[in-house]
Amino acid sequence: MSVRVRFAPSPTGYLHIGGARTAIFNYLFARHHGGTFILRIEDTDVERSKKEYTEAILNSLRWLGVEWDEGPYFQSERMNVYREYLDLLIKRGKGYQCWCTPDELTLFKDSLKKEKKKFKRSVVEENHPEWLSPREGIPPVVIVETPTEGKIYYDDLIRGTISFPAEDVEDFIIWRSNDTPTYNFVVVVDDADMKITHVIRGDDHISNTPKQIVIYRALGFELPHFAHVPMILGPDKKRLSKRHGATSVEAYREAGYLPEALFNYLVRLGWSYGDQEIFTKEELIEKFDLSGVGKSPAVFNPEKLLWLNAEYIRASDHNRLFQEIYDKLPPDQRSKLGTDPSFFKLIGLVKVRSRTLIELYENLRFYFEPYPDSYDEKGVRKFFSKKPVFDALCALYEEMDKMIHFNEENLEKAFRDVSERYNVKLRDLAQAVRLAVTGKTVSPGIFETLEILGKIRTLKKIQRAIEWIKSNVNFENQG
Ligand code: GLU
Repeated sequence: MSVRVRFAPSPTGYLHIGGARTAIFNYLFARHHGGTFILRIEDTDVERSKKEYTEAILNSLRWLGVEWDEGPYFQSERMNVYREYLDLLIKRGKGYQCWCTPDELTLFKDSLKKEKKKFKRSVVEENHPEWLSPREGIPPVVIVETPTEGKIYYDDLIRGTISFPAEDVEDFIIWRSNDTPTYNFVVVVDDADMKITHVIRGDDHISNTPKQIVIYRALGFELPHFAHVPMILGPDKKRLSKRHGATSVEAYREAGYLPEALFNYLVRLGWSYGDQEIFTKEELIEKFDLSGVGKSPAVFNPEKLLWLNAEYIRASDHNRLFQEIYDKLPPDQRSKLGTDPSFFKLIGLVKVRSRTLIELYENLRFYFEPYPDSYDEKGVRKFFSKKPVFDALCALYEEMDKMIHFNEENLEKAFRDVSERYNVKLRDLAQAVRLAVTGKTVSPGIFETLEILGKIRTLKKIQRAIEWIKSNVNFENQG
């Protein structure tokens, strides 16, 4: 039988990275086995489900490259299917109607808890026989009857056999009095109706599984395989949440992560293949299987994700990176930059020192902005505030102005000559120029950078820095 899996998010928030990992595991499992990956939006909770979240989830999946083969199906559009199966379940004598209000039910369940008794049909018969026939003005709920003895168990593909004593599994509502079905019911109907062969999901659903098995049996469906993936923890070993920082895929996208880096990182959270860290998608499809998924929770490590992102940026070709930052570039310069070989050369130089696309953009900005918005403060104190360095900078400006071939070789020569003449360290002069040009004290090799930037732009920036120094630095006060 060919593999059919699904990702079934509830659109009550943005796509969490835990959810994204579940989606990726399902996707890779389907691709590895040549099966089908289905997307199903579980939007029966009308109050909490929002259209904008559905859109955001679909966008995040698309961005990550998790392509689905079928769907998205919407549970809210499948009520007729659920009704049919409800009728079938009742016809098979597996469910019963109960005419009680939600408050009555809660009170009764509380009292049972105190007596350490479970909510089962026999207990209702004993204590509230009147609930089992119509009561004026009270709409009924439909309850599924759970077995009273034996075990409810299944072989989890990750956890091994998981077993629950049947007497501990309470009867539960599958259809509410407001005429809506409950999660455990619709999830089973959908998984069976969509012929899902493997249910791969977070282990927060382990406790729902025995209830779902009861419904599978009540409807006469075959059980799928279950695989519960351990949760993701924050660095403090507590369940990953907003407290630990960004947790949505969208937030990582905005923070300048490449989708393939996040994809690769999330797969490795809980799945391993020897010590290998970096995988192409094709390799993952070839190598991924549930046998590589561990039983223990994975710890989310933002540093490692950042490292991986840097590796992916370093390995990306320049055109790709240009496309990634395109929207941030000044609109009036986009097309010019897109055909400017010097800019592409600069992308090549700075990508090796950029861990995110935001850093990449920041490291490129000096190329297309006339002047730095500000000069690094520490740099100003060290390199803009010494008279000999300032004098050398002015002299260097003159040398550059005279230069016919504005290239690395001639630039290096001019820097050396001037620093000797003014008796300043070559490094201090280079740092002053770097600060003048980029506003920062780190950049790729200065001669290479200036050659790429070109004579006109370089001179303008240095001139601006000279003026800035004249009006902001008082050399008299320098000790
Ligand atoms: N809609 C459920 C959730 O978002 C998933 C249900 C399932 O995978 O069985 O947690």
